[in-house]
Amino acid sequence: MGGPARDGSNDPVASQAAVERAVADLLKALGLSAATEPELAQTPARVADLYREAFSGLDPANHPDLATFPHAGQGELVVVRDLEFHSLCVHHMVPFFGRALVAYLPGDTLVGISAAARLLEVYSRRPQLQERMGQQIADHLDRLIRPKGVAVIVEARHLCMEMRGIRKRGLVETRAVRGELADPRWAPLLALHPER
Ligand SMILES: [Zn+2]
Repeated sequence: MGGPARDGSNDPVASQAAVERAVADLLKALGLSAATEPELAQTPARVADLYREAFSGLDPANHPDLATFPHAGQGELVVVRDLEFHSLCVHHMVPFFGRALVAYLPGDTLVGISAAARLLEVYSRRPQLQERMGQQIADHLDRLIRPKGVAVIVEARHLCMEMRGIRKRGLVETRAVRGELADPRWAPLLALHPER
């Protein structure tokens, strides 16, 4: 922030304007015009707003300051289930979305229970790969609290699979499971849809 930005890329206002221009160019390249379709008039500005929101996790200013607490005694598994997220796939820039489970087995540090949701926001709000998102959240928790084990299970629909290419709906599950949580005895507790 504040430094010289020849191409305007560091200045939020300038980069917003650059995205708007690029979207207007894209529409033109696609043969679309507000002259023949008035509904398109505000589309470049709306799309620029959308990307600013969808990629807000790239801005370090939006990264949460996660509170940690000392933890004594036997670690009990902490599981946060059913967290919803929306992201854009890095290959096609179309949505993939679903839910995540974040679990950790504490060492001598705990983190606030909203941490899982906050990390999911940071790592989903950027161009992303589902597998990488789970690994990044697990890495972050590993660095932050050195747990005895960590697991991030993600289940998502990918519109790049549903609306183009194979055009089939399906759920993709990815699992980043580390440390003691890799022991199969934990598996039932790490299920996205536990038996009720
Ligand atoms: Zn894709």
